[in-house]
Amino acid sequence: MSVPLLDLSPQYESIRTEVDEAVQRVVTSQYFILGPEVEGFEAEMAAYLGVPHAVGCASGTDALLLPLKALDPQPGDEVILPSFTFFATAGAVWNAGFTPVFCDIDPVTFNVTRQTVEAVWTERTRAVIPVHLFGQMAPMVKINALARERGAVVIEDAAQAIGARQDAGVPGETEPGGKVMAGAAGDAGAFSFFPTKNLGGFGDGGMVSSRDAALAEKVAKLRVHGGRQMYHHEMVGTNSRLDALQAAVLRVKLPHLPEWTEARRSNACRYHGALEDVDGVTLPETRQGNYHVYNQYTIRARRRDELREHLAGKGIGSGVYYPVPLHLQECFRELGGREGQLPETERACREVLSLPIFPELGTDRIDRVVDEIRNFYQG
Ligand SMILES: *Cc1c(COP(=O)(O)O)cnc(C)c1O
Repeated sequence: MSVPLLDLSPQYESIRTEVDEAVQRVVTSQYFILGPEVEGFEAEMAAYLGVPHAVGCASGTDALLLPLKALDPQPGDEVILPSFTFFATAGAVWNAGFTPVFCDIDPVTFNVTRQTVEAVWTERTRAVIPVHLFGQMAPMVKINALARERGAVVIEDAAQAIGARQDAGVPGETEPGGKVMAGAAGDAGAFSFFPTKNLGGFGDGGMVSSRDAALAEKVAKLRVHGGRQMYHHEMVGTNSRLDALQAAVLRVKLPHLPEWTEARRSNACRYHGALEDVDGVTLPETRQGNYHVYNQYTIRARRRDELREHLAGKGIGSGVYYPVPLHLQECFRELGGREGQLPETERACREVLSLPIFPELGTDRIDRVVDEIRNFYQG
């Protein structure tokens, strides 16, 4: 029995009729860019997240870029972000005109913390991007508090964390015991609908969520060349629109997301029970108050590369997210990153391995993966 890291087909099969009807509806309308499907999806996403504003755009990368550009960066202005993330987080910071400043992570959750962010703070820091890596939220209450004390903006990279939530716990602002969704905790949130994300379209797509009306308005202008009225431009934006076909597909999928997320969580639970006692692996941990949505189920593994090869030999897919930290990427050499600078990030790059976790995986295939990990370490 082979086990792919990800298989998108069973999900499509399960909602094929609804999706095909939605696609047909758009094709018949011949209304392809923005328009009623996109507006409908924006309203549904805003309601789902519990934010007043959601603005569709062309990708998760642009969902980071647009709110960053909205801050009007001046040369030398800095944005703090983790070095242990997908390249897009840093690429967006750079392309918006900011200087990326990389911080380290908490070894337990792979996420930034107030301490790791504070360690690299300077008087040029304008914004922080906590990345909710693998589907678990970074500690937003503490990061928000730090940013607020120092007058910086918080933009959540929620590309891997749609549907994740956490205890809100902000005295005087949120209900005691209340929850806040990923993308609703900071000043703005960035989502990706790349097909491998928990809510994936049939191509690229993204969305900016925000509680700030002025920021959302600016992002909505920036995605159409910096003006709401055709041929009148208050600022230089770009072309970054969500198309109607993607929105129509995503509207069909969104109501299914909670059940798909629960399936990921139950897969994670089965791995946990079966791998807990294996010497050689460290399992992912969820911090108290977090609802983890497992875009990835990422373990640390002794002899990681050998394990990966062993699994591949048995037809089992796995992934290394991410093998090279961003502070050591060639394109950022001029920023002066050096080895040993962010020890937990560098260790994670050597140790992490992501296992198949997609909702339709099923218990037999999980058990197959577990057996082969056991065989590798226990012979
Ligand atoms: C996928 C991803 C992005 C970028 O999304 P795209 O839609 O591929 O542009 C940004 N940040 C993180 C953490 C991601 O995983």
